[in-house]
Amino acid sequence: MSQVAGAPVRALAARVLDAVVHRGRSLKAELANALPQLVDTRDRALTEAVCFTALRQRARYDQALSLWMPRPLGARDGELRALLWVGLAQLDELALPPHAALSATVEAARLLRRPHQAGMVNALLRRAQREGIAAAGAELAWPEWLRTQLRQAWGEQAEAIFENSARAAPLWLRVNREHSTPSVYLQVLAEELPEVQASLSPLLADGVRIDTHVAVSALPGFEQGVVSVQDGSAQQVADALRPAIGARVLDACAAPGGKAAHLLERDPSLQLLALDVDARRLRRVQETLDRVGANARTLAADASTPAAWWDGQPFDAILLDAPCSATGVVRRQPDILLHRRESDIDALVATQARLLDALWPLLKPGGELLYATCSILPRENQHQIDDFLARTPAMRAQPLDESYGHAAGSGRQRLPGEDGMDGFFYARLRRQD
Ligand code: SAM
Repeated sequence: MSQVAGAPVRALAARVLDAVVHRGRSLKAELANALPQLVDTRDRALTEAVCFTALRQRARYDQALSLWMPRPLGARDGELRALLWVGLAQLDELALPPHAALSATVEAARLLRRPHQAGMVNALLRRAQREGIAAAGAELAWPEWLRTQLRQAWGEQAEAIFENSARAAPLWLRVNREHSTPSVYLQVLAEELPEVQASLSPLLADGVRIDTHVAVSALPGFEQGVVSVQDGSAQQVADALRPAIGARVLDACAAPGGKAAHLLERDPSLQLLALDVDARRLRRVQETLDRVGANARTLAADASTPAAWWDGQPFDAILLDAPCSATGVVRRQPDILLHRRESDIDALVATQARLLDALWPLLKPGGELLYATCSILPRENQHQIDDFLARTPAMRAQPLDESYGHAAGSGRQRLPGEDGMDGFFYARLRRQD
């Protein structure tokens, strides 16, 4: 096959993949339409091989691309994303001669009417050629200090953490109780987007799991606040906190507002104060609440200095969704591995301890504080809580059942990918005095 003939093949493969992955079409049907456009049987075979490889390896390729690209591709860049998979599949599993693969794929960007992005395609594919695409498994570039800490903490399970963090995560939706229920929403999806694979989870009262790539804005009712995107682990926070009807609740680290919105969807009569130290991020809380039609007081303030903002009225329940290393959500945000430094952990552990010490006295006797992180490092989780309980006799841990993950000290830990959800830690603490 000549190079000139090569570009249309790559462009065609990208169109097929875009239709299959981004628009829920069947691969068989798309290939049946596309292949007759190619005269040469070798071109047909190559198109098929590229499409199958790219579909199987897509998660790996997306991981590599997300690490290499300064900004993620937008929703309108589906064909371009697919073309990058096409390029990577040729260099990777299919091991085609790199020069031909590269030039034909770059030329295909022009055929797809993206001449302005041909240079980017070229640069990314050259990088893939130079550095290789990491194999499945331990392929994500975990810094060595973090890899060591996770092996120390989790022993053999660490390998599963590395592997699961490299897999694409499902999309979890939270159905707004004010509008619908998960099973009703499943029916709506089946009618309006029949190509989308969706299911319920026995662990979530409000959750729907989606395993097909779908643009969030295309989801029925999204703009109207019928559904929100929220990982299953984050959805369980509302169950673990379980405030009484109409309770006075503090969400101490609230931005961008996902958990506050969930609590209010469940009980609009809650008197919720949503705090965040970052005024810019706090504006997102208001946007989140507006979209789902919920009301709360929002306040830009440092939760660790209540003297500056607390009116002295005790809270029935406090959610401390603490700033953390986010090591449990690497599968969604692989760039965490690029940014995180070992010294960050000491600083985060100190902030978390300061927040715990400052906030528990704001509880009523009998009130509960839920400490949550999306970390999988024991220092931020069970060790943090053990130390807190040791210095705070007024606070006692309350049991959480296994639906929240493995027993971890006085709390529960879910590791990344377990139950299809993000890595997460929960500890429920009650004021006893
Ligand atoms: N609960 C949020 C949700 O469900 O959308 C996510 C919270 S995020 C894990 C942690 C938040 O803590 C960040 O928005 C950060 O700005 C905030 N934060 C960090 N230190 C804080 C402090 N001292 N006081 C209040 N907020 C703080």
